[in-house]
Amino acid sequence: MRKLIAGNWKMNGLASSLAEIEALKGLTGEAACDIVVCPPFTLVEKAVECTKGAAIAVGAQDCHAQAAGAYTGDVSAGMLAEIGARFVILGHSERRLAYKEMDAAVAGKAAAVHEAGLTSIICVGETRAERDEGRAIDVVRAQLEGSIPDTATSSNMTIAYEPVWAIGTGLVPTLEQIGEVHSSIRHMLEERLGDDGRRVRILYGGSVKAQNAKAIFGVSNVDGALVGGASLKASEFAGIILAAV
Ligand code: PEP
Repeated sequence: MRKLIAGNWKMNGLASSLAEIEALKGLTGEAACDIVVCPPFTLVEKAVECTKGAAIAVGAQDCHAQAAGAYTGDVSAGMLAEIGARFVILGHSERRLAYKEMDAAVAGKAAAVHEAGLTSIICVGETRAERDEGRAIDVVRAQLEGSIPDTATSSNMTIAYEPVWAIGTGLVPTLEQIGEVHSSIRHMLEERLGDDGRRVRILYGGSVKAQNAKAIFGVSNVDGALVGGASLKASEFAGIILAAV
């Protein structure tokens, strides 16, 4: 399966940061994977302009489940589609934690993303305590069951397995641990979507860097990466992109 490397800029970046996307553009000829950059809302439209003609898609980091209405501060999937976004990250652990986003809310947002013709990147992952209690797979499974809407197919949904304890910490699960969770996610996707479940891309996220990317991409059922900190600088992000073959 062709890998997907997605960069999550989180709440980082001003217009001057578009220079990083400019720098990535030169690389796309060498890349053997699909590339997505997800800047903050304020830069989505500018990033779309900047990537015109280049093989880099642009995504957002969240959206509302409704198409329009009295939801101060929110942005709908249709609004993102109108400005050229193609992906939306949903259910990131930072949002699940800070905004108490529950699985059902993530599923509602994902359905809105699919309705708008965009692709959802649905994030799941256990905390350190849940892993230590031996519950990582059960937690991920329950999150997936609750967060995937009936509108999901392999063409409009990507899953990102992101252990909460690995995000921004420099800690990474062993390759065996990653393989174990990814294969159980694959199994669950096949149960839910039948044969189409085999075609859903499952990304790993959590402290991916240029130097550990190749080993992670060699794990079975790892179809790419969702990258936070290391996606902010084109030079580091490029190393991850080139590791994906
Ligand atoms: C993320 O926030 O999605 C992430 C994976 O962060 P980092 O790569 O910095 O651990």
